[in-house]
Amino acid sequence: MKAWDVIIVGAGPAGLAAGIYAGRSQLKTVILDQMMPGGQLLITEQIENYPGFHDGITGFELSEKLRVHAEKFGAVIENGQPVSSVDLDGNLFVVRTEGGEIKGKTLIWAAGSIAKKLNVPGEAEFIGRGVSYCAVCDGAFFKDRVVAVIGGGDSALEEALYLTKFASKVYLIHRRDKFRAVKIIQDRVKRNEKIEPVLNKVVVSINGTQFVESLTLKDTMTGETTELPVDGVFIFIGNEPNVAPVVHLVETTEQGFIITDEEMRTKTPGLFAAGDVRHKFLKQVVTAAADGAVAAMSATKYLEEKEG
Ligand code: NAP
Repeated sequence: MKAWDVIIVGAGPAGLAAGIYAGRSQLKTVILDQMMPGGQLLITEQIENYPGFHDGITGFELSEKLRVHAEKFGAVIENGQPVSSVDLDGNLFVVRTEGGEIKGKTLIWAAGSIAKKLNVPGEAEFIGRGVSYCAVCDGAFFKDRVVAVIGGGDSALEEALYLTKFASKVYLIHRRDKFRAVKIIQDRVKRNEKIEPVLNKVVVSINGTQFVESLTLKDTMTGETTELPVDGVFIFIGNEPNVAPVVHLVETTEQGFIITDEEMRTKTPGLFAAGDVRHKFLKQVVTAAADGAVAAMSATKYLEEKEG
């Protein structure tokens, strides 16, 4: 089996940008994704801070542009290939999927992250029956209904605004009295009459029979519990990194995010990490794409030094 120059795992903005740069460096490049290209872009309605797109661009459109761009420079994209394990065989990385195994001289791990769970009673039971982690996917099912959004970051506030397109009312439930989202989004939320912030409250349970009917909330200041009738609940409380298959080859933070240097190098020579899976200050589409570019150029440099 001939080895790829670069195997990229994850076809979000980081992986696709890495594919553009690796392809343009004339490296034999494959990008594996567990689903289809786009990563979290696919669950984002509108991106309004990606440089150059001053009128905004939908997550789907941007992912399509990135996919076409990576393929234009020769990267091969393989969908539906969740990676189960990664090992070293001498100097080569062996990447296993359900479809078999492939080998690469370098590996760029850009597998992103998945939504964190609240881990309260009712959450797992009502997934798809009122509990959702994706407003773009499920928002339209809640036309003229009452929903709750959980979280106080950029995702929660942006998705609460998006849900007002459909829902008659959106409760925005946050565990503190201050949101952490950027001010421009907080101001939009304040101006939106459909959104009602519910502060200093945590969800104790999600209740219903066939579908979600209510939330039990606990006041973090007084300890008092109350019942809030809702038809749906959208949970945006952050993400966890997809790191398991490479965890033995990298150093991570306590939360599991991969530690790299500025050139996206991990502790294993030839293994680079890029995008949301990496420990860094700012997690945005533009910084994910930048990570991917740096990782691909570092892989190029690594191969040149090794192979001459
Ligand atoms: P985040 O910034 O980590 O915010 C998570 C929110 O959920 C916080 O408000 C946190 O509360 C709350 N939370 C965490 N665990 C909780 C729990 N168990 N119960 C209740 N609440 C809980 O996550 P994010 O909003 O998904 O954003 C992730 C990254 O992507 C951030 O860097 C963000 O800036 C970026 N992002 C950017 C954009 C954009 O620029 N347009 C859009 C989306 C996301 P505390 O505040 O009390 O910690």
